Formats: sequence, structure tokens, C-alpha cells
Amino acid sequence: MERRDFIKVSASVAALAATSSVSGCKGKKVTVETNLDVHGYMEEPAKRIPVIASADVVVVGGGPAGVAAAVSAAREGASVIMIERYNHLGGLWTGGLVLATNCTHGLSSSGEFSRALYGFTFDVLNELSALNLLYGDVNAVVDPEACKYVLEKLIRDSGVRVLYHSFAVGVIASADKIDGVIIESKSGRNVVRAKTVVDSTGDGDVMSWVGEKFDLITYHCGMNFRLGNIDRIDSSAPFFSKVYTGASSPIKSVNWYNSFGYKDVDATNLMQLSKVQSDLRMESWNIYFDIKSHPGYEEVFYLDSASQIGTRASRILSAKYKLKYEDTMTFRSFEDSIGVSGGWCRLPYKGQAIEARNRPIWQIPYRALLPQSVKNLLIAGRCFSFEKELLEDAREIGTCIVTGQGAGVAAAISSRQNIDTASVDIAQLQNSLRKQNVKLE
Ligand SMILES: Cc1cc2nc3c(=O)[nH]c(=O)nc-3n(C[C@H](O)[C@H](O)[C@H](O)COP(=O)(O)OP(=O)(O)OC[C@H]3O[C@@H](n4cnc5c(N)ncnc54)[C@H](O)[C@@H]3O)c2cc1C
Repeated sequence: MERRDFIKVSASVAALAATSSVSGCKGKKVTVETNLDVHGYMEEPAKRIPVIASADVVVVGGGPAGVAAAVSAAREGASVIMIERYNHLGGLWTGGLVLATNCTHGLSSSGEFSRALYGFTFDVLNELSALNLLYGDVNAVVDPEACKYVLEKLIRDSGVRVLYHSFAVGVIASADKIDGVIIESKSGRNVVRAKTVVDSTGDGDVMSWVGEKFDLITYHCGMNFRLGNIDRIDSSAPFFSKVYTGASSPIKSVNWYNSFGYKDVDATNLMQLSKVQSDLRMESWNIYFDIKSHPGYEEVFYLDSASQIGTRASRILSAKYKLKYEDTMTFRSFEDSIGVSGGWCRLPYKGQAIEARNRPIWQIPYRALLPQSVKNLLIAGRCFSFEKELLEDAREIGTCIVTGQGAGVAAAISSRQNIDTASVDIAQLQNSLRKQNVKLE
């Protein structure tokens, strides 16, 4: 488990700090220039931007939270456009080679270790299981390519229109309402008009552009990779000794290596991301060279690396309600619950270490997705609002999907009824979520 004492919270975007040091987990110390080194300014002439599409709900970011939001909004009857900068769906789950779908289970209030995640998570995992490309049940491990395929299929079936290769770079907004999302692509700079927007960029890009309050967490940044020929490791080789080669995946010859990476990284800082990206590439190959140099491991090969850097945390919304660690340890129930999640690791509570299987299934209130000012915005995924002590569970894939499904259905209702996201009727939202097989308590 990652150590919470590495967390630093800063109230503002610390992008213009002079320098900071980023340490490798193996004690390496890398000094990174974080100064964006502004050499003066240039005026960009104002210009008219073509509106190329409109939808009831525009979802920015196609990670686990974003896909759940888009599909769920479409199932609730909304027209939906998804904006994604890369060429696939799934975010870190697929492109980041983060394969364990954590928080699937927890302790029920009646004392049984049971499944917490139904709804969209269940849809995806069932499809992967049918393809025989899912490993395990509790915190199930996916095959990343199959997961991309299943997400694509679900999104096509739901009628969501995806704009790939589109980087959202800003919004057209008044003080409290977003009218459109500005994207940049090979077609230039364009606007997608929106009635309601879901920010599922992971880093809370949209909420930062509209001036919502957030905490910036500096945390571990890694780059996962996979190794092949694991089934050809020869344990009978002379001088063989066991070496860590990552964790099993649904393909028996392939392991995935979850990279701890570098600590204290500000993943919203271009200079740090660039330096850390380069160092992580070298580090992953050094790990591989080391494995391969051991007797019996000669045939292991470096299969592939994550196509996106592994940001564990960055901006976290300061919402109408910030979910508390205490809430998740005490079966706290919320009138505006949009779903429940489980626990995947041992965590301390009142001086005791609570094992994952004894961790309560916990509820997520709708207010933790609601920004304080902008009236047609919802936040889903690892940037929703929670205390930093909850980082280990709140940012996990299973939890992100629950927040996405809640945000998607709420966005569909608010756009259909022409009301603020804060005014969505909770009973109606919960009713729709139940119909989508979401467990609320
Ligand atoms: C190294 C590492 C290991 C981890 N291990 C685990 C684990 O074992 N199990 C687990 O459950 N969780 C794990 N996590 C956490 C988990 O992977 C993420 O927190 C989770 O994927 C977050 O989902 P999300 O949808 O909020 O964001 P992301 O997965 O980050 O997806 C965000 C999406 O938005 C897109 N996007 C971002 N900005 C823009 C923009 N401006 N315009 C257009 N598109 C944009 C991105 O391309 C991406 O597709 C790990 C994370 C890391 C980094």
C-alpha cells in the first residue's frame, strides 16, 4: 500500500514553483525544473470557433468514470458526446495498464463479505468473463485490449458519439454555466456545445478552468508495463532463485507490473511530467534487464508499456460535501447515496489495522460530485470530493465507475429537465440508478 505520508496538499496550482525534487522509490533523487520559465507573453488574437457538435451531456475524458458516465447518461435517454484525447476508452484501466478492478467487494452491514459493485462495473466484467479474458472475482484483473474492446462495444450500443484524438483545452462559460467545451485536434480548434458537462478527466481539468475550488495532491506517478513468457520461466535452472515479475493477468504467459514510480509528483506540471515520464521509461527497462539477468528468466521479454503516464492523484474537488474517511469506516448512510464501493487494502482505524475483507461497504453521496459554483457541471472519477485519507479507495477503478454512473444519470436528468445539477431530484436519480442495477446501500 502506498504511504499516506507522501501526500502533500496545496490549495493552489503550484505550477510556477521554482524547483522541486522528485525521488525515485528506490532512493534515487531527481531534481526537476518545475519553473515553466515564462519568457514574456504574446497576444493570441480573438477568433470565432466553429461549433462542430451539440449534445445534452458532454463527457470530458473516456476513462473508467467517463465511459460509465456516458453510457449511463445515454441509457437514461440523453444525447451524449464523449471527448477523449487518446485512441481508446478506459483511461488508466486500459491505456495505463492498471489491470486490477479494485473495490469490488466489502463487508455488508449484516457482516458478510460480499459484492459491492454491480451496475456498469458488472456489465463490463461480465462481458470480459464471457471472453475468458478476466482473472479472478474479487478485485478482478482485466485484459487491457479486451477491456478496450468491451468498452467500445458498450459505448456503441448505447449510442454515445465519441470524439477521439480530441484534447479538451478550455470552456466557453459564463460565471456559473458552461456553454461549450473547446477541443483541439487535427481539425483545429472547435467547440462542442453542452447542456450539462461531466468532468471525468481524472485531473479535474474542466473544474480548474471554471474556477471551482480544489486541492492539489502531489503523489506517486508510475508507468506500468507487461512482461511475456512468464510460463517459460525455468525454475529448474542452476542457481535459480525467485524474482518478482509482477502479477498474473488473464493471459497465463503475461504478467503486469504495477509501477510504484516517483513520489510527490505534481501531475499538472508539464516539466515534472516530462522528466518523470523519461525516468520511468528507463526505470522499467532496468527492472526488466535485472529480471532477465537471473538464471531461469532468460526468455522473459518486455511486452509493452502503458501508453499513458500513471497519475495516481492530482486535483480533488472541494464539493458541497467532502466524503470523510470516518464515513467509509462506519457504515454511514447518506440520503443522497448514488452508489456503494468496497475496500481493497488494509487501512488503519482507531488504532487498529482493518483488513480489506473487514472493511465496510461505503456509500458515496451525490453532493461529493457537485461543484460549489457552476450549475451545469458534475465531477466523476478520481477527482471527486473526498478527504485525502481516503485516497487509497476513492481513486480506485471500481469507485471511479460508481461516481461516473451517478454523474451520468444525474447529468441526463438535469439536461432533460433544464435544471441545475444541484436541483436534481434525489429520489428520481436513485430510482434510475436502481434500474441500471446500481446498489445504493
Ligand atoms: C500506476 C497506477 C497503479 C494503480 N493501481 C490500481 C489498481 O491496482 N487498481 C485500481 O482499481 N486502481 C488503481 N489505480 C488507480 C486507477 O487506475 C485510477 O485512479 C482510475 O483509472 C481513475 O479513473 P478516471 O476515469 O477517474 O481517470 P483516468 O483513468 O485517468 O481517465 C481519464 C481519461 O480522461 C482523458 N483525458 C484527460 N484529460 C483530458 C482532456 N483534457 N481532454 C480529453 N481527454 C482527457 C484521459 O486520456 C483518460 O482517458 C492505479 C493508478 C496508477 C497510476
